[in-house]
Amino acid sequence: MLFNLAGKTALVTGANTGIGQAIAIALAEAGADIVVAGRSEAAETGAGVAALGRGFLDVRADLSSTEPVRRVMDEALALNGRLDILVNNAGIIHRADSLDVVEEDWDTVMDTNLKSVFFLCQAAARHMVRSGGGKIVNIASLLSFQGGIRVPAYTASKSALAGLTRALANEWAAHGINVNAIAPGYFDTGNTAALRADPARERAILARIPAERWGQPDDLAGAAIFLASRASDYVHGIVLPVDGGWLAR
Ligand code: NAP
Repeated sequence: MLFNLAGKTALVTGANTGIGQAIAIALAEAGADIVVAGRSEAAETGAGVAALGRGFLDVRADLSSTEPVRRVMDEALALNGRLDILVNNAGIIHRADSLDVVEEDWDTVMDTNLKSVFFLCQAAARHMVRSGGGKIVNIASLLSFQGGIRVPAYTASKSALAGLTRALANEWAAHGINVNAIAPGYFDTGNTAALRADPARERAILARIPAERWGQPDDLAGAAIFLASRASDYVHGIVLPVDGGWLAR
């Protein structure tokens, strides 16, 4: 029962593919109804959730600006009249030498990975404060701890996201809201396609992973269910690495 999400409603952003899709399916397997929000249709995710017998709603929103935040929250609440879990997964990465980064790309990364996340957290928490609590899970990164290479805006956004997670946890724990983050290691998704396409980088990354393989999105299911469920009721403000041991190296 500690991990049972029956009767809960979860909103997962960027769940048409990759990590967000795996987390949405995992939360549905644990019993939650699922709302997804993103700029692309999430038909495959919807089919997976429906096959598990859970409710599903697909909300169209470009989260590179805060403009759709209020509507996303209103539409999410329309499914069951409640929101218990928010997973801020939608994120973007731009790779370029720091000497060449242009302002527009910097802003897109920061607005998507950080600014929209804050205002989604705020909108969800305003509801959760009234309803007596909830769970917020932000998808951080190893670059919440490390500098990375050729991704300065991404590193800045994910490092800030770790700080934001702690700041919100401090303010909202007393309201019964758990704000935590997951830091995935190197996962086989669109986010890392450029790394895997470069054989030297691919080998160098793999050589440092004690588990001797890249992560698959399903590897995040347990951490997501833990942080979305009663099992984590006394866990606040952590950034939980799920990285095959990368940070331990
Ligand atoms: P992905 O396959 O590229 O998925 C990214 C998701 O974010 C997609 O659903 C994408 O939608 C959505 N998204 C991007 N910009 C958006 C916008 N403006 N509005 C709405 N949705 C938007 O990569 P992923 O690995 O699953 O990434 C998911 C999260 O994990 C990201 O926050 C990423 O930073 C984080 N992460 C990934 C890794 C890894 O190794 N893969 C490691 C650490 C952290 P579209 O399909 O429409 O673009």
